[in-house]
Amino acid sequence: MNAIGTVESEAGADNARRGKMTGERILIIEDEKSLIDVLTYNLTNEGYEVLSASDGMDGLHQARAHNPKLIILDLMLPVIDGLEVCRQLRGDSRTKDIPVMMLTAKGEEVDEIIGFRMGADDYVTKPFKLKPLIQRIKALLRRTKTLEPNTEVVSMHGIEVDRLNHRAAAGEQQLDLTPTEFNLLWTLVRKPGRPFKRTDLMDACRGEDALSLERTIDVHIRSLRQKLGPHADLVETVRGVGYRFRDSGR
Ligand code: CA
Repeated sequence: MNAIGTVESEAGADNARRGKMTGERILIIEDEKSLIDVLTYNLTNEGYEVLSASDGMDGLHQARAHNPKLIILDLMLPVIDGLEVCRQLRGDSRTKDIPVMMLTAKGEEVDEIIGFRMGADDYVTKPFKLKPLIQRIKALLRRTKTLEPNTEVVSMHGIEVDRLNHRAAAGEQQLDLTPTEFNLLWTLVRKPGRPFKRTDLMDACRGEDALSLERTIDVHIRSLRQKLGPHADLVETVRGVGYRFRDSGR
C-alpha cells in the first residue's frame, strides 16, 4: 500500500531546471525502497540534497557523519526502529538539534504520540500525499531556522521573550508574567506551530509550582492570553492535544 504512485510537483521540477538549489541536506531513513525513490526524486526537484538510509543503524551513522538539516524517519525500521533512532539522535550533541519528521503507518496513533514525545518535531501518517508532506518539510525547516540553538531571546509575531533576563514583551509593551506564564510562553514561542500536550507543558513549568495539575494549565494559558491582549490568539488551542504558538509561516 504505497501511498505515492504519481510524481507531482511541477514547481519543483521548474526549480531544478533553473538550477535553483536550496543546498539544504535532507536524510531519509526508510526501508521501503520505492518510497525512498519517490521522496528523493521530488525533494531533489525542490532543490534539496538528499541522502538515504534503509535501516536505523545506517541512518544514525549518516546523521552523525553528514549533519543534515532535517531527517525524515520511518517508525518501523529494521535493525533499530524509528523510536530508538529518534532517542539516540536526541541524546547525541551532534544530532540533537536536527528536526525530525516521523513517518508512521495508519493505526499507530499511540506510537505517533510516543514518537512526538520522544523528540520528533512533526509526523505524517502513511499513506500520505506528496505535496502536503513537502509543505510540512518546508514549514519545519522554516521554523527551526527561525531560532538559533540555545538562544536566550526569541522574537516571533511581535512577541519577544528574553529568558536570560526573564523579560517578555508584546510590541513595546512589557508583560508582567508569573513564573508559570513566563515558562509557558517561552516553551510555546520557541517552537511555533508545534502542538504541546498539557502534560508536556506541565513538565516545562515544573519546579515553579510542582502542584500544577493538568487542567490548571488551561487557567495559566487563559491568564497568559489576557496579558498578551491583542496578541492573545498567537497562543492557539489544539483540540485534543493542548496548545501551540502560531506557526512562523502564517
Ligand atoms: Ca518501514
